Amino acid sequence: MATLKIDMSKTYDQIECSFLKAIMLRMGFAEGWVELIMMFVSTHVNYNKSAISFSANMDEAAKGKQCWKLMTTPQSLVVRILKARYYPRSAFTDATLDGSLATTTVNCLMLPDQQRWDNDLVADVFNTRDAALILQVKVFPICPICSAANEFVLHCLMECLFSQSCWLLSSIGFVRSYSSFFEWIEQMFNRCSKEECKLAMMVCWRIWLNRNDKVWNGHSSRAQNLVNAAGRYLFQWQEARKRIFTIVELVQLGHGSVCWSKPPMGWLKCNMDAGVFNSQDSFSFGGVIRDSRGAFVATKCQCFPGLSSPREAEALAVHEALNWTKSLQISKIIIEINCLNVYSALISQSISPNGFGLIIEDCRALAQLIGEVSFSFIRRSANVAAHKVAMVGGSMSDLGEWRTVPPPWLYPMLAISFD
Ligand SMILES: [Zn+2]
Repeated sequence: MATLKIDMSKTYDQIECSFLKAIMLRMGFAEGWVELIMMFVSTHVNYNKSAISFSANMDEAAKGKQCWKLMTTPQSLVVRILKARYYPRSAFTDATLDGSLATTTVNCLMLPDQQRWDNDLVADVFNTRDAALILQVKVFPICPICSAANEFVLHCLMECLFSQSCWLLSSIGFVRSYSSFFEWIEQMFNRCSKEECKLAMMVCWRIWLNRNDKVWNGHSSRAQNLVNAAGRYLFQWQEARKRIFTIVELVQLGHGSVCWSKPPMGWLKCNMDAGVFNSQDSFSFGGVIRDSRGAFVATKCQCFPGLSSPREAEALAVHEALNWTKSLQISKIIIEINCLNVYSALISQSISPNGFGLIIEDCRALAQLIGEVSFSFIRRSANVAAHKVAMVGGSMSDLGEWRTVPPPWLYPMLAISFD
């Protein structure tokens, strides 16, 4: 479905809106997903706009309604534009509603292949005041974030220094310069996992919201807050579809975060990960505990014989993290996991009748012995320290536990900036 939206004050935004949607559909995103994104986008730019839409497979009744609107509200803005563009010399009832309408955008008010308004057409369609307002809108304004370049889609979402720092933090990365937004998105879909692609679309959306917030309210987020908000929204959206628990709890724990952040006052945070080493028939546990100032507390690296599936290894690693926490006599801890399967099993009400289910059962029982334990799902990029420890677990030479002072090979992962 193509949507035509005419917005007096923000004509430019609407080009991006329909463009974004078309791209997402073309790249094969589920329609429900695209609708959700568009709902966010459209809600945000819901100013004094008129909208009308045409669909290739719109049923006759709906099409009839649209036509009825056109006939009964001949003075509405959108009708005047459509009329000038598609049937300037006849009444609507004599015109045919063909496929070309589906591509109607604000571009129609511009000179073909030129980046400026068609003054005559704008003057024909709008009254003097409205026409003057439209002609004042710069077709390609300066980027409101960096003020250093024209605000094309590619610049706004990718090339702006601020956007680049968001992409670097998001782990999706900004590899090189692209000739178009479309090229970037194509590469990303080839290169990244499904989950990363979803996150990328959320990051795009947050960059766009941030840009609007800057333009309309003078606010601007920090890159880390932006990517974490993207991660959290994606997680909340995924969870809302499963209806497990409330949003309030989700926000406080920072579920879905993309960058590591400090736990609240009075809490410790244990990041954990598992490694599976097929060639050695073994798997490992890596855990890193930090306090509410972000300071290093302890790390533990262990290796276990026997091969587990990645899911079982992750569950066993949670078990190990809980055992370790208990041995350190910690009573208030957030355990951060980057395996969504294990996280979901831990907080679900049901028990799977298999080996994996039994490990999860044991984890829950162990958590109750400790006191206050919160499980939190974070993205891999927020878990680099624990991941590093788990990988070292495969080398067999650096196993052990460190308290207060971390092992030298862990320094770079702890130095990654936060807050
Ligand atoms: Zn910029």
